[in-house]
Amino acid sequence: MTTVLPTFQDVLAAADRIAGHAHRTPVLTSRTLNAELGAEVFLKCENFQRMGAFKFRGAFNALSRFDADQRRRGVIAFSSGNHAQAIALAARMLDMPATILMPQDAPAAKVAATEGYGGKVVFFDRYQDDREVLGRALAERDGLTLIPPFDHPDIIAGQGTAALELFEETGPLDALFVPLGGGGLLSGTALTTRVEAPDCKLYGVEPEAGNDGQQSFRSGQIVRIATPRTIADGAQTAHLGALTFPIIRDKVDDILTATDADLVASMRFAASRMKQIIEPTGCLGLAAARGMGRQLQGQRVGVIVSGGNVDLADLGRYFSAG
Ligand SMILES: *Cc1c(COP(=O)(O)O)cnc(C)c1O
Repeated sequence: MTTVLPTFQDVLAAADRIAGHAHRTPVLTSRTLNAELGAEVFLKCENFQRMGAFKFRGAFNALSRFDADQRRRGVIAFSSGNHAQAIALAARMLDMPATILMPQDAPAAKVAATEGYGGKVVFFDRYQDDREVLGRALAERDGLTLIPPFDHPDIIAGQGTAALELFEETGPLDALFVPLGGGGLLSGTALTTRVEAPDCKLYGVEPEAGNDGQQSFRSGQIVRIATPRTIADGAQTAHLGALTFPIIRDKVDDILTATDADLVASMRFAASRMKQIIEPTGCLGLAAARGMGRQLQGQRVGVIVSGGNVDLADLGRYFSAG
């Protein structure tokens, strides 16, 4: 795999590749939110993206670049979350086979969604098997191309297209808040932001229980942590990537955190005031912007809402507990 970092040119090329295949998601506003912050807030709603999260952008971009032999043999990914569904759907649209490695105890709804998009799910035992070893063995045996969830130049470039669309609609902003897991979305957004809105303050936001990105950003080297306990399942990553970290280190202004309680409060706000369902991870940026409160007074503020795939039974539990 290449270690050359992607650039803004790669984001523009990705935007061409996904045009007509990914949704151009809406940018929504709320008077209540504007009044609360004394700011003008623009939400880029990737909860309305195909398969329900921005991950479709990177997946479709990466798979579009496969040559004929790679297409015939297919793609492999390990994920029980949105990356799995994104790869399965993009593969089906591009008419290639997709194999997804998932833990045996992955939620049935996620397995069903991935299979529903045509992905072939192969289970592993998370206590017995090393999924990387297993994945590599399968990839080698069948000549499959492995696409990781964030640390890949085509994934990063694809994720940067959401901010490109946002700036096309809003013009330059004063601040932009972005959910952070392994950093594909944040690094891609950073490539776009530094060209489209060079003076915009760019913040990554991760769960407080898993602030490896904040520790990495502040110490200047990749910090690894144990899998954090948080309802933000899309950001339960243990460390940033070899490609995503240097981009984030050089182009992001700071990394902030949100507690699970902050996420539930923002999910509730989005549901009751904006009639939107957002998954816990998808609310990281919104929660941090609301946490900054009046510091944003008078500013034009962007928030990337990264996804909306939450089990409705879980959603009921979050809301009744709050
Ligand atoms: C994967 C994911 C994230 C984190 O994205 P990274 O590129 O890993 O930082 C945030 N929100 C949602 C909804 C996700 O699926």
